[in-house]
Amino acid sequence: MGREIVIGLHFYQPPREAVHPLLSKISTDPEGKNWTEIIDHQCYEPLAAEGVLEKVTFDIYQSLLIQLEKISPETAAIYKKSMMENGVGESFIHPILPDLSKVDKEIIISAGVNRFKEITGQNPKIFWPPETAIDTETLEVLSENGYEGFVCAPEQIIQQDGGNSDNRPTMIGLPNGKRIVAYPFDRTISSLLAFDPKQNADVFTQNYLRPKRDSIASNQVIIAWTDAETFGHHYKNGDKFLDYFLDSSLPSIGLYPTSINKLNFTDKTFSCGKIRERSAWSCPHGNLIRWSGSCDCGWGEDTSWKQPFSQSMDFLNAEVSKIIQKELGQRYWEFTANKFYENYAHPETVNNPQKALISAKISSLIAKTSCATFFSSPEVSGKINLLYAYQSLLYLKDAGLETVSNDLGKNFFEKLSKIIYPNSEETALTTLQDMLEA
Ligand SMILES: [Zn+2]
Repeated sequence: MGREIVIGLHFYQPPREAVHPLLSKISTDPEGKNWTEIIDHQCYEPLAAEGVLEKVTFDIYQSLLIQLEKISPETAAIYKKSMMENGVGESFIHPILPDLSKVDKEIIISAGVNRFKEITGQNPKIFWPPETAIDTETLEVLSENGYEGFVCAPEQIIQQDGGNSDNRPTMIGLPNGKRIVAYPFDRTISSLLAFDPKQNADVFTQNYLRPKRDSIASNQVIIAWTDAETFGHHYKNGDKFLDYFLDSSLPSIGLYPTSINKLNFTDKTFSCGKIRERSAWSCPHGNLIRWSGSCDCGWGEDTSWKQPFSQSMDFLNAEVSKIIQKELGQRYWEFTANKFYENYAHPETVNNPQKALISAKISSLIAKTSCATFFSSPEVSGKINLLYAYQSLLYLKDAGLETVSNDLGKNFFEKLSKIIYPNSEETALTTLQDMLEA
């Protein structure tokens, strides 16, 4: 008898350029390449054209989808159509959620839900957190936004019976009285899908999937999830490997790909457990230190720049919140959540101070994008954060708050001047200045 399997793909790119008209000519890539466009040709387009999206489950971050809508509207349309059955929700942009205030969590989680609904006509059921980083507050906000579950790594879940969490959907009780289901992916299969050479899908299936299928309980569904860019970008022809794997190799051993949205569990199938607070799939050191401090996930490099970098962006984002709250009142977060797509996709703010204020807040949130401090050097990805931080200050000026923007800018630049980049003469401030002068 056949069994179900969920193959999940995480589609993500950070914004490559700022959107403010005064900044839109600046490239953050050292060679001036548009990587999203390159990866689109290698991966996003072929996966869509081969029909892979109909067989997998996927999350696609809006920060990527908005770029795809410009690069290849036909491809973007296939993604949007497939989201209806096979899409899971996301937070529009990609910061470490537990490092944000509750209000900021509300803004981007509901912005993601709003856009998902506009595209598909329905609320997303399951959520893919950036870097699968979670804390209880994030799960509460998810549950209040109608989410029934989220995907994470098995080591982020502590089972009541002490057992391994691979593939075991786990009911998590929350302080707000609601419940949410954790869907831990299979660590072994997910890693192999990411890193094993993509040569022969039948051999891959025989070597890894067959023993996995035989080793787990018959009512368990294998859930594997990995970066979509693996297929076609990291591995040439990986898209064809995946297509054949889904169509032929898996069914040949009785595993049938299905959408995570279609899994039908009864309450009895769930085990109960709790989460490891402030954990993620890609830093085992605890407390999400990879993104805001120093740990050897940076491959032994000097990561002392991370803490002041992360704190500077927190400072700017918190100050922008105070300013916008003063101007628009307590409900500023709702305006921001509701206008997130509109302002992001259509950034012009001529003669519209309220739109400029909301764009300032969106920009200071994007300045918290996690890619900068994921890597051990801030030189490439960090530029995006610096540019969006600067864009936030520009939008405050567009809102008529010239002095406020100048005062905040002075404090912020002072902080940037103290962030010394590793193995370099540069600081965060000189890096920003070089970009603006180029
Ligand atoms: Zn680490």
